[in-house]
Amino acid sequence: PAGPPPPGSGAPYAFSFEFFPARTEAGERALWQAIRRAEPLSPAFVSVTYGAGGSSKARTVEVARRIAAETTLRPVAHLTAVGHSVAELRGIVGRYADAGVRDVLVLRGDPPGNPRGEWTPHPQGLRHAYELVELVRSLGNFTIGVAAFPERHPRSPDWDSDIRHFVAKCRAGADYAITQMFFDVEDYLRLRDRVTAAGCDIPLIPEIMPATGIRQAARFAELSGAVFPAGLARRLEAAGDDRDASYRIGVEHATAMGRRLLAEGAPGLHHITLNRSGAAFDVHHGVLGAGEETLVPPPARAARAVPGPP
Ligand code: FAD
Repeated sequence: PAGPPPPGSGAPYAFSFEFFPARTEAGERALWQAIRRAEPLSPAFVSVTYGAGGSSKARTVEVARRIAAETTLRPVAHLTAVGHSVAELRGIVGRYADAGVRDVLVLRGDPPGNPRGEWTPHPQGLRHAYELVELVRSLGNFTIGVAAFPERHPRSPDWDSDIRHFVAKCRAGADYAITQMFFDVEDYLRLRDRVTAAGCDIPLIPEIMPATGIRQAARFAELSGAVFPAGLARRLEAAGDDRDASYRIGVEHATAMGRRLLAEGAPGLHHITLNRSGAAFDVHHGVLGAGEETLVPPPARAARAVPGPP
């Protein structure tokens, strides 16, 4: 999925959208409205998250299945090792295959209830994401994505071990990575330099989330461990309860980040939608409006960033 946009989209950059499986009927309607709005834009792929602690297993399979069966979109199904034995993980991967899903974003996951709590693997399960990459690799011809952390994984004691463990996922067979959200482009560029220096050249797709409100932004930054820039926080605070102003500030910041990332040779942008068809789409259109000359990556990077589809 890290390849260029599918023929006919006309977009000068590879972009993708992330959705989560809804828990309620109203949530389900919003999800499908957002998916239907994404479809005519022809993203390279759309991803469906896997609920914390494996709580959304059946819903992730079902949403990915429907995307594969009922839309022209290419679904990427997330999968985590949390709470599953190896036998169960094999079963879920089999259900993805049966559902026509050939792209899996492989993650270790976090402890249910408390992402910062102690990580305990299932007694018959897996401990690290690279082991799940190996498992999925052994089960069929899947395209495999993994997670990368521009501000390093919150549990990594130092950069050396973080990069070493990331490279283990590449060696185990990852085709590309999607980053954790971040708010400073320099963090992405430094991560890319570190990964490249460690001999790994899989595409690192930056994840973009517009911070359209101070409370929401602070909560996401806390959950992801991302540092929220003081300047952006001040602008959002100054906007106070003015939702339109907050929205504009968040979209503007994310759009500027997207443009700069592509100008720096990022292989695409992965937009978190939160199942809404607003901010993420506005950022995408804002990035498109930047004009081709700023968006087309330098040839050397572009050549490296295009692995073929499975
Ligand atoms: P790992 O690569 O296993 O790394 C986790 C930690 O263990 C790191 O500190 C790493 O350095 C360390 N480590 C790795 N290997 C070793 C080793 N051999 N020895 C010692 N230490 C090691 N979570 C969900 O529940 N559902 C989702 O759908 C979901 N989607 C995500 C999408 C993206 C793009 C990202 C970036 C994250 C997503 N997450 C999701 C969150 C993710 O599950 C957590 O961030 C989790 O804590 C780390 O997962 P990982 O795959 O990076 O794990």
